[in-house]
Order: sequence, then C-alpha cells, then structure tokens
Amino acid sequence: MSKTFSKALLDWYARFGRDLPWRFKGGAHPNPYIVLVSELMLQQTTVKTVLSYFDKFIKRFPDVQSLASAPLEEVYLYWQGLGYYTRAKSLHQSAQIIVSDFNGVFPSKKEDVLRLKGFGAYTVSSFLAFAFNAPQTVVDGNVIRIMARLYHLTDPVDEIMQDVIQKAQNLTDTQNAADYASAIMDLGATICTKKNPLCNQCPVSDFCLSKNLDDKEQIPLKKKILKKDFNGYVYVIKNKKGEILIRKRTEKGLLSGLYEFLWSENKLFNNAFETDLYVSHVFTHINMKLKICTLTTQKTPSDGFFVKPEDLKKYAFSTLMQKVIKKSEFFICT
Ligand code: SF4
Repeated sequence: MSKTFSKALLDWYARFGRDLPWRFKGGAHPNPYIVLVSELMLQQTTVKTVLSYFDKFIKRFPDVQSLASAPLEEVYLYWQGLGYYTRAKSLHQSAQIIVSDFNGVFPSKKEDVLRLKGFGAYTVSSFLAFAFNAPQTVVDGNVIRIMARLYHLTDPVDEIMQDVIQKAQNLTDTQNAADYASAIMDLGATICTKKNPLCNQCPVSDFCLSKNLDDKEQIPLKKKILKKDFNGYVYVIKNKKGEILIRKRTEKGLLSGLYEFLWSENKLFNNAFETDLYVSHVFTHINMKLKICTLTTQKTPSDGFFVKPEDLKKYAFSTLMQKVIKKSEFFICT
C-alpha cells in the first residue's frame, strides 16, 4: 500500500500543494535557515498567523549570523503577537549555537540537531526532513488525524499514538521525505480537515476506512482541556510627566522576558480608578480576564520603570498587554 499511497499523495501535491514562503517543492530546502525559522514559528501557531510575521522576520534577520548577533529584545519585538515567546528565545539561542558550535553550518545529524533549543522529537524529524530530505516521518496534528481516519482508529488519541506513529512510518516515502511531509500536511490542512473533510476530493480516499462513515469528524477522539478562569486587575499607571509604568517579566516562566503593566489577581492600589474596560486572553490552560485600572502617581513603584507613551512601541509586550495598550489609549495619550 505504501507505494501506491505515497504516489497518489505526491501526484496530488504536485498539482494542489500550497505555496508557502518557507516551502520548497522537489526535495530539501536549499536554505536550512528558512526551515529553522519556520519550524519554530509554526509550533502551536497556524500557518495563517505565521504568514503575517514570517517575511518581516526574515527581512530583518536574513541569515543565522544576523539572528545570532541581534539582541534578544529585538527578536521579541519581531515576534510580538505570535505568542509562546519561549520559542523566540529558543530560536535565538539555536542560531547562536549554530554560529558558535557549528561554525554557521547547519547540523544534519539527529544528535547534533538535538543540541539546538526548542527541538523535541517532532521538530527534529521535521527539520531533518525539510532541510535535508532525510528519511524522517513527521507526525503533527494533521498526520495524526489522517492516520486515525485512514485506519478508523476510534480510541482516544493518547491511546492510539504508538499505532499512529507506526502507521505513519510505514506509509512515508523516505526517498522523498520533504515533499511527502509537505504533502500530508497540506492534505490535512485543506482536504482532511477537522470539520467537513472533503472526501470526494481526497487523493487517498481509496485507502481510507472512514470515507463512507459518519463518525469521521469525531476522529481522532480528543480529551477536552479544562481551562481555569483567572480574573484580576491590570494597572495603567502614569506619573506627572505623562510617562507610563511598565516592568519586565523574569527570564523564566510564562511570557518570560516580555514587558507588561502591573497586574494581579487581587487589587494592588485602593486609590486606582476602575474603568469598565476589560481585556481577556485564552492561554493553554487559563481563561484570563483583567479589569483595566488607571492611576496617576508621584512615586515610582519599586516594581518597574516609567517610559514615554511614544516609546512603548520599543518594548515587546504579550498579546494580552498589547490589548491593554489599545484599550487604554485614551488614558495613555491624554
Ligand atoms: S477519505 Fe476523507 S476521511 Fe479519509 S483521508 Fe480522505 S478526506 Fe480524510
């Protein structure tokens, strides 16, 4: 089955595969740096979102040397809005490792790629397949969904993973690992979609046990993540000169190294004005909602420093804090 399956898939890909700025059709990408950046950007982020950041990032950091020598704060600025900022830090550190430990030459052996930051089993396989056409099987969410449907695996996803990986490996065209990985991802993104899969346009429907069954949208079966609600307060604090108080987050943990306004679950200042404006953001396990409060003060709180309103754009904020800036414009700019 694997030969006829991959032929059908690759023929379809040659005609209908997506053109993406980090994509190279017909083997290994000639520039592994492009693969490195795209792999880290695409972790937990949709292609659509990455598309609006990728070109700008590559324009500013066109090669591994320029990225390695840039300050991390500037890398964060170009990552601003993409979320999961530890990836930006990992990408920056990986570039530095490639320059310092590999003389700027991209590693092509698994054990060397594992020395880079932010590279787990999936990213290593994916990087090696796309950058070197190495015989690797890439197993992302699209591949899991396609394998589970092809073989009608109806048990919860964590119980079928070993089976999925084995089946994905059996089907992989290892001679054409880069194109095969792109093709199966595109199939998942455009044909075998989570909802309303287009089975009548599917190039591998002849191999699929689910195509005529009604439960395919429920495959693979996923556990629902229970999210906690977090309600709190965020403070836009101004001094008499009209400057705004911000602070830098620690280098560890969620949103590390980014800037933010003071915020807390409990009230920090009893004399602050509570607006009726809120910002909210959904993190992996938390639904966060913060009430915006404003305050003018003479003192500099021990936590943070004041900056001119027009300089706020020089600091990298999380998406949540960017929402605070947008919603508090009336206070920041007056
Ligand atoms: S036939 Fe339908 S369910 Fe099966 S792989 Fe193709 S799109 Fe997915």
